Amino acid sequence: MEHEPAIEIRDLRKQFGSHEVLKGITLTARQGDVVAIIGGSGSGKSTLLRCINLLERPSAGEIAIQGEPYRLHATRQNDLEISDRRQVQRIRAHLGMVFQNFNLWPHRTVLENIIEVPIHVLGTPRDEAIHRAEKLLDRVGLGDKASMYPGYMSGGQQQRAAIARVLAVDPLAMLFDEPTSALDPELVGEVLSVIRDLAAEQRTMLLVTHEMAFARDVATHVVFLRDGIIEEQGPPEQLFNAPRSPHLQQFIGAMS
Ligand code: ADP
Ligand code: MG
Repeated sequence: MEHEPAIEIRDLRKQFGSHEVLKGITLTARQGDVVAIIGGSGSGKSTLLRCINLLERPSAGEIAIQGEPYRLHATRQNDLEISDRRQVQRIRAHLGMVFQNFNLWPHRTVLENIIEVPIHVLGTPRDEAIHRAEKLLDRVGLGDKASMYPGYMSGGQQQRAAIARVLAVDPLAMLFDEPTSALDPELVGEVLSVIRDLAAEQRTMLLVTHEMAFARDVATHVVFLRDGIIEEQGPPEQLFNAPRSPHLQQFIGAMS
C-alpha cells in the first residue's frame, strides 16, 4: 500500500458565484506523504481541503480517494452534484478533518465525541469503540479527560481530542486546516508534537499551516497556493531554501 496514491486531485476548480477560488488544482498525495499547504489568506487553502471531503462541492475536476474517484455529475448549476451519496458517506467517514476551532460537540464528553462516528457510522460495537477511544486518548496525553466536556479544557487539549476523534475512524488521510492558529502560543507545541508523531508513523496527511519551521521539518512535500493555483511545489528544502517564485520568496520572508 505504501506509495500508492491516497488522494488524487485533477484540475479541481471551485467558484463561489462568479468568483473562481480554485483555478485548476492538480495534486497527488501518496500513502505516507505529509503534504504541507502554505499560502496567504484567501488563496484557497481551506476550500481545497473542504473539496477533498466534499464539504464543498467542486465546480469541476476529479478527486479520487485511495484510487476511488468520487462519482459526481454536472448540472446546470456551477457545482458538480453528488451521484452516489452512499459512496460519499462511506469515504468521508474515513477522511478525518481537524479544524482551526476544534469543532468538538460541546454537549458531549470527550469520550462521546470520539465514539460517535465509529458507533453510528462505522458500526463499531460500543465496548470496542470505547476501548479504542481510551487508548487514543492516552496516546494524545488525555487519558484522564475522557469524561470532560470540551468547554472545560484548554484549546490545546481540545485540539488533541479532535485529533483522537479523527484517529478513531482509521483515517485514509488526515486533513488539518490550520490546527494551531486558534491556540495561545504556549499551547501550540503540544499539538504540533502530536502531529509530528503521526507524521513519523507515516500517516498520510494534508496540513494547512502557517508554522513554517514545522512544515519544513515534517512535510515530505510542500505546496504553495496563490490565488487559486499551485504556484510552486516540491520538497521542503527546495521550497524554503531556494524558492523560485517571487511571491513565494516574499511570503516566506513575511512569515519568518
Ligand atoms: P484560505 O483558507 O486560503 O484563507 P479560503 O479557501 O477560505 O482561503 O477562501 C478562498 C476565497 O474563497 C476567499 O476569497 C473567500 O472569501 C472565498 N470563499 C470561501 N468560502 C466561501 C463561501 N462559502 N462563499 C463565498 N466565498 C467563499
Ligand atoms: Mg483557511
